[in-house]
Amino acid sequence: MIVERPPDDASIEKKISWAKRVFHRLRNQLLTDERITRLLERLKTAIAESRTERSRTGIVALCTACEQREGGSCCGAGMERRYSATLLLINLFLGVKLPEERMNPSSCFFLGNEGCRLMARHVICVNYLCKKITDKVSIPQLAALREKEGVELEVLFLLNERLRDILESRFYSSGSPETS
Ligand code: SF4
Ligand code: SF4
Repeated sequence: MIVERPPDDASIEKKISWAKRVFHRLRNQLLTDERITRLLERLKTAIAESRTERSRTGIVALCTACEQREGGSCCGAGMERRYSATLLLINLFLGVKLPEERMNPSSCFFLGNEGCRLMARHVICVNYLCKKITDKVSIPQLAALREKEGVELEVLFLLNERLRDILESRFYSSGSPETS
C-alpha cells in the first residue's frame, strides 16, 4: 500500500517524491495491467508523431532559438503547478528523469538546458503557441500539428484515468491523503 496521491495544490517537490516512490515500488505491478502497457505504447508513438510534426513546421527551431536567446519566455516559474503527481508518474514510465531542483528561479521547474525535460506534458504546454510562431507557421501546418497533438492528449487522458483508477482501487492505504 502507498500513501494517497498528493493534492494538486501540493508543492512540486512533494508530487515528484510521490511519483518516484510509486514508480519504484509499484512499477512492475502496474505494468501487469494490459491497458496501462497498451496506452503507454500508444502514448510514446503519439508523442513521437507530435514531435515530428512540430519539427516539420519549424516550431522546434523557433523555440530552440528563443530559449537560447530569451530563456523560453513562455515557460515561466509557476507553470509546474499545473502538473499533477499522476502526470509526473507517467513521465517516469516514459523514461524521463525528473529534476531535483529548478535550473533558473524565473523559469518553470521542468525547463532544462535543451527545453522542456518532460515527455508527457500538460494540455496548456502542448497547446501553447506564441505570436512568434503563429506569425510564421501556416494555418494548414498548424492544423496538421493540432491533429497529432489531439491524439497525444486523448491517449494521455486515458492513461491518466487508468492509472488513477488502478491506484485508488488497489494500492492506496486507508490513511488520510499526504498533505505535509
Ligand atoms: S512558444 Fe514562443 S515564447 Fe515559447 S519558447 Fe517557443 S518561441 Fe519562445
Ligand atoms: S512543463 Fe515544460 S513546456 Fe510546460 S512550462 Fe514547464 S518547461 Fe515549459
